[in-house]
Amino acid sequence: MKQQTNALHAGYEKDSQGTMVVPIYQTTAYEFRDVEHAADLFALKELGNIYTRLNNPTTDVFEKRFAALEEGEAALATSSGMAAIFYAIANAAEAGDNIVCATQLYGGTLTQAAHTLKRFGIEARFFNVHMPEQIESLIDGRTKVIFFETLTNPSIDVADIEAIVEIADRHGILTVVDNTVATPVICQPLKHGVDVVVHSASKYTTGQGLAIGGILVERRGLVEKIKSNPRYPQFNEPDASYHGLVYVDVPLPLYTLRARLSLLRDLGAVVSPFNSWLFIQGLETLPVRMPVHSANAQKVAEFLVAHPRVEHVNYPGLESDPNHAMAMKYFKNGMCSGLLSFDVGDFERAKEVVDKTEIFSLVVNIGDSKSIITHPASTTHQQLSFAEMEACGVKPGLIRLSIGLEDAEDLIEDLKKALG
Ligand code: PLP
Repeated sequence: MKQQTNALHAGYEKDSQGTMVVPIYQTTAYEFRDVEHAADLFALKELGNIYTRLNNPTTDVFEKRFAALEEGEAALATSSGMAAIFYAIANAAEAGDNIVCATQLYGGTLTQAAHTLKRFGIEARFFNVHMPEQIESLIDGRTKVIFFETLTNPSIDVADIEAIVEIADRHGILTVVDNTVATPVICQPLKHGVDVVVHSASKYTTGQGLAIGGILVERRGLVEKIKSNPRYPQFNEPDASYHGLVYVDVPLPLYTLRARLSLLRDLGAVVSPFNSWLFIQGLETLPVRMPVHSANAQKVAEFLVAHPRVEHVNYPGLESDPNHAMAMKYFKNGMCSGLLSFDVGDFERAKEVVDKTEIFSLVVNIGDSKSIITHPASTTHQQLSFAEMEACGVKPGLIRLSIGLEDAEDLIEDLKKALG
């Protein structure tokens, strides 16, 4: 099936009522037929619903539909994008291990990697996403994950996915990629050899800023990379917390299975069925929305680049942008999503421009149908040191826009007035 068809149908078989809309299974638990049935479900001899912290029929549709859009094997939904990122990493790494991350990351991911994972004994080492060759000198026998974003937030860089995957594969290391900003409509990292894709579903997936959620998707055939790979004993040796289950021996997608049976079971950052339902509604229109976000952002970027009071514009759709060639290599139909940033010189001027806009809402979010303006230095990246800010491409005068689905001419007029 094509992506637009999958966005509307994948993962859902109508119930006996013929319900057109996926029902919300708002329940904590499920009745077992008898004790043997219960035992079989716990032993994975039969697959089925046990308890909504582990699985839920509405969430199951959301997971299957997202996996179809990314052309992955299976997905696991979580309560937030941050939880999806943590699970994707914690599934592979433990105390004493390290991960190698791009410096150009979402601020929350950066603090999770540099500070929170450190307290769990996992060290984050950083490379410049434009210099994949730096990775080689950072990895060792305890490197478990190489993490980066396809289209970075907020620095708007585009990763050379295949160059990074080539290094990772040569060393048998898993690649985990945040594809939130590009979405599978624009870029499908699994097709370029990435092992696991993560998303904040709170962005373009809901599309209307309705709910917080996350998802991780594993590629088909990932078991071959993990089986007998000495870096990942947790998949190759019996899991003492699950009566000796050896994940590589189970004929199920192993990365999401372990994340579900171990991490979701024990840490519990589960998505609510209602939020899964909202995400399903959002996915139905994702392939229709992304071309409009992209076309609007292109027009706004072209306006800003020609404006005398704008020092610099970051948008890969601009031919002059250093990321343009990479975007044309990895992104479909010239689409570059709705995120762009521009520099007006200094902190105070940026605050003034942000405060003067009227259609744009001052919000720390992206991927909404309504346009959003943010000043990263005073909000999302405030907790970072200036050195950390610089390293991930955030300057004091940088303004980030998440271009929505309004008429581009109105957005341009609003920015024209704010810039003065
Ligand atoms: N990844 C990216 C690229 C993001 O922009 C965000 C949030 O802004 C996240 C992950 C975190 O997602 P959430 O807010 O759903 O936890």
